[in-house]
Amino acid sequence: MMAKEFEEKKAEEILKWAIEKFGKKVALASSFGAEDVVLIDMLMKIDPSARIFTIDTGRLPQETYDVIEKIMEKYGAKIEFLFPDKRAVEEMLEKYGPNLFYKSVELRRLCCHIRKVEPLERILKDLDAWITGLRREQSVTRVQIEKVEEDERTFDGIKRVLIKINPLADWTEKQVWDYIKRNNVPYNALHDRSYPSIGCAPCTRAIKPGEDIRAGRWWWETPEKKECGLHIKQK
Ligand code: SF4
Repeated sequence: MMAKEFEEKKAEEILKWAIEKFGKKVALASSFGAEDVVLIDMLMKIDPSARIFTIDTGRLPQETYDVIEKIMEKYGAKIEFLFPDKRAVEEMLEKYGPNLFYKSVELRRLCCHIRKVEPLERILKDLDAWITGLRREQSVTRVQIEKVEEDERTFDGIKRVLIKINPLADWTEKQVWDYIKRNNVPYNALHDRSYPSIGCAPCTRAIKPGEDIRAGRWWWETPEKKECGLHIKQK
C-alpha cells in the first residue's frame, strides 16, 4: 500500500515528505556515488541541516575523500562519519590478512560485515528511517525495490521496522547524469574513468564498454552475490 502511494511521486517530493515526517530521525546513507550526490543536492535545497552519514571503511579510494570535501565546501553539509570497530578490524587482518576479500566469498562478506554492515546497524539503531540512492536498474538484486518500503531489522534481539526510502528507484542512469550536469553537482572523479559504481578501492575497478554497471564491483564473484550486506533484507 505504501509503495503504491509513493510510486508516482517525484524524488524531491519524497525527500520533503521524509524530512517532515521523520525530522532528525531520518538520514541519507551516502557513499558519494552519482545517485548519492544527486540526493545530497536535493536534500540541501530542502533542508541544509538534513542528516547525511557515510561509512568510512578505511579502504576508500582517494577520489571519494576528494568528492566528500567538495560536497562539504559547496553545501556546508555536515557529514557524519562512521568507522568500523577498531578491534574487530585488527583481529580480522591478523587472522586472515589485509586482502582477505579475494580469498573467498565468506571472507569478503566478513570484511563487508565488519567494515560496513556493523557501522550501518550502529546508526540505524537510532533512526526511524533512512534514505538511499538505490535504483532498480542497477543490478539483479535491486529490481524489486520500492520508493518507500518497510525495512525490518533486529537490534540487540529486538525487532524493529524502519522505513527505507529510495527516491531514485525508477531513475535511469541518464536521468542521474542529466541532473548532475544541470545542477553542477560535484561528483566522484572515478566516474569519468569508467567506474559507474564505486565502493572500496580493492573491490572496485573500471568496467569495459557494454559491461553491466555493477561489473566492476567484486568482479570475481557472480552477480547474485554482489551485495555488501547493507541492502540485504533481514529475515
Ligand atoms: Fe572489505 Fe571490499 Fe567489502 Fe570494502 S568492499 S568492506 S574492502 S570486502
